[in-house]
Amino acid sequence: MRLRPAELIQRKRDGEELTAKEIRELVLGYARGEVPDYQMAAFCMAVYFRGLSGEETFALTDAMIASGDTIELGAALGRKAVDKHSTGGVGDKTSLAVGPIVAACGVPFAKMSGRGLGHTGGTLDKLESIPGFQVELTTEEFIDQVRDVGLAIIGQSDRLVPADKLLYALRDVTATVENLSLIAASIMSKKIAAGADAIVLDVKVGDGAFMKTLADARALAETMVVLGEHADRQVVCLLTDMDQPLGRAVGNALEVREALATVRAQGPPDFTELVLTASARLLSLSDLGVDETEGRRRAERAVADGSAAAAYERWIRAQGGDPAETALPAAPVVRPVASPRDGIVRSLGAIRIGAAALHLGAGRATKADEIDHSVGVVCLKKRGDEVSAGEPLAEVHARDDTSATAAEREVLDAYELAEDAPPDRGIVLEVLSG
Ligand code: URA
Repeated sequence: MRLRPAELIQRKRDGEELTAKEIRELVLGYARGEVPDYQMAAFCMAVYFRGLSGEETFALTDAMIASGDTIELGAALGRKAVDKHSTGGVGDKTSLAVGPIVAACGVPFAKMSGRGLGHTGGTLDKLESIPGFQVELTTEEFIDQVRDVGLAIIGQSDRLVPADKLLYALRDVTATVENLSLIAASIMSKKIAAGADAIVLDVKVGDGAFMKTLADARALAETMVVLGEHADRQVVCLLTDMDQPLGRAVGNALEVREALATVRAQGPPDFTELVLTASARLLSLSDLGVDETEGRRRAERAVADGSAAAAYERWIRAQGGDPAETALPAAPVVRPVASPRDGIVRSLGAIRIGAAALHLGAGRATKADEIDHSVGVVCLKKRGDEVSAGEPLAEVHARDDTSATAAEREVLDAYELAEDAPPDRGIVLEVLSG
């Protein structure tokens, strides 16, 4: 077929359905550098407005996988491996605690991660706050570590789904990220290519997430479950609250500390609940042959008896890092943010806290920005908590007084205080599976 991108863009713009072959040619042509960015950007915008059918979404996912290598983890390990992925949120350090718990229960956990952009943090950036930690492993080293240590989290290999790498960067600067089919294909192509047999997807819902409503999150989850089934993978989606930051810590080293506290049974309640729910689901999908109740029991035991903390240390050492909490960088300025009055926290805007952490230097506004791993925000009070005038709502961890003062204002703006408690809302809103 002679590729005519302009014709495909036009047909999608006019609401037509494209064939799998046409989508494949377009995506592979783009990955080879034969379709220019401007045409692919126009195509993404047409998709943004017109959407993709189920068949088109499947074809897009398949084409993205075909743009690079795939890993046969199950065959290499001789058993089932599991993976977890989040659609992105504020304070989301879940994998850092789930990985060691699942590994401590004897199930191989193999994850490739991305970096953060904008208000959402990336797992790799968090891991890089650990002195010496190597995120770049070859595929062979990745598989060997999963086999020997039971757990590896590394950077996405350039050879896996190169089309997504290009496409995601393009969508990020052309306002075309927030389309259900594009997000589903982007996430699932990477998960399928990275080889795990069973995947738990944490689909974030709310202020700090791509999906703002439960209905949108449900639709995304359903699409990803179907894409997993097409590729013979078991997928369970947890729809979880992202109206406020997850846990208390937002910022790289601060989040690693909180994840470590959680595998040591000292984590904040909402984060601990999500970590145990995700771990229990992963264990029930593994080859241990346990149900979710037994999975939960084993996950709780691994936390209580210290085996999850031991797995954390083994994993960090295996990737060259120093697992001691004292090795993590600490910000020179720690500023309490005092409550202006008595009240109950009605809401705590995830986006605003994410933006405050970003402005402190915890994230990147552009890909070239350097990250300061030590800075961030610790939300001491969360939705539903009571606070007295002058009591700290949060702590700002900053590199200097000027940035601390600016962040203090942003953090205060993120808190809405009221007289009455808001309705109780758990962290896990719904569970969806095939
Ligand atoms: N995460 C991804 O990997 N891709 C998207 O498109 C959105 C979130």
